[in-house]
Amino acid sequence: MAQATSIGTSTLAIDGGEPVRTTLLPYGHQSIEKADIDAVVEVLRSDWLTTGPKVAEFEEAFAARVGAAHAVSFSSGTAALHAAAFTAGLTSGDEAITTPLTFAATANCVLYQCATPVFADVTADTLNLDPEQVTNRISARTRAILPVDYAGHPAELKAILEIAQRHGLIVIEDACHALGAEYQGKSVGSLADMTVFSFHPVKHITTGEGGMVATSNPQFAVTLRRFRNHGISTDARQRQSAGQWQYEMVLLGFNYRLPDLVCALGLQQLKKLESNLARRREIAEYYAAAFHDVPGVILPTVRSEVYPAWHLYPIRLDLDKLTADRAQIFRALRAENIGVNVHYIPVYLHPYYRDRFGYKGGEFPVAEAGYARLISLPMFHGMSGRDVEDVIAAVKKVMHHYAR
Ligand SMILES: *Cc1c(COP(=O)(O)O)cnc(C)c1O
Repeated sequence: MAQATSIGTSTLAIDGGEPVRTTLLPYGHQSIEKADIDAVVEVLRSDWLTTGPKVAEFEEAFAARVGAAHAVSFSSGTAALHAAAFTAGLTSGDEAITTPLTFAATANCVLYQCATPVFADVTADTLNLDPEQVTNRISARTRAILPVDYAGHPAELKAILEIAQRHGLIVIEDACHALGAEYQGKSVGSLADMTVFSFHPVKHITTGEGGMVATSNPQFAVTLRRFRNHGISTDARQRQSAGQWQYEMVLLGFNYRLPDLVCALGLQQLKKLESNLARRREIAEYYAAAFHDVPGVILPTVRSEVYPAWHLYPIRLDLDKLTADRAQIFRALRAENIGVNVHYIPVYLHPYYRDRFGYKGGEFPVAEAGYARLISLPMFHGMSGRDVEDVIAAVKKVMHHYAR
């Protein structure tokens, strides 16, 4: 951090200079320690590799942490979204309103149910779903709203829940970025009808692949459990302990189970959630302090009513103050071996959505303006102090170079 001035005048790696680092720093990465490995090995030696005691243990601990009555585990965050869309009753002819600035899975889960995702634009500060735009997009067919807590900053849940209540809609919050975040003093997971989490390796805790739906609605919990197990009303372990062979398939479900093997990993990872969050918040503070006066860098906004979880650290480029566009700055940072990324290409601009729904670009101008300026800097709890310094040095070096 101290050498910013000399770095600011040195040749960019993209122009043949020395890169800030010799190895690529990814934008996200898991942390696995001995206790994690031991927990998995213990289950490998036990009787239950798939649905066993660790599943319920993980679900109960998770529900308690996020402040929900129930948590139901799934084989991925995407499977969890699919189950939530099913449980919300989404079906052919229905619409669900969501944000374009998300991972495609948020909207895809609506399509899995043969319903139609309807996008609404985001607000310029947080890039989260704009409640006013949501209201504009409600029709007689609307059944659900799917806000996303972009980057780990909770969506405007108060306004969204009010809209949902007024129109009799179900809110499925995609909180895959926001495990551990708070909104108006309440834990994300305790607010929406269903809240979806992911345990992909770049998220706050990991099970390799995995996901969870948190809900305080007991009927939703029952349906979610059936949906992940072929639509069968009991699981194999329940039948074994009851000495029964009968089972009944009551709805068309899938095999979306999260194995005991990795629920043990999830339980162990959950113990580290507080320290993971604390480290991410600390990194966000270093970044904010380092970049507040760097030309061309716009820091992510944090509204006063939230406590974000910092899954991502998305800066935006103030393009008027720069001589290069986002693509050039992205390449320059990659050349310095900083594994920057972009979250997200607006979902409706993907070829599948363009072809199927006729989107041409220009439909949601705030999301598109955000997208054109976004760069996600590396943000994960396992970053060392040196890693953080490298990101800061590289951003300063590149931005000073391209400043007008
Ligand atoms: C990670 C993520 C998901 C789910 O992803 P999986 O890889 O299926 O666990 C869904 N939505 C968003 C916004 C995500 O970031």
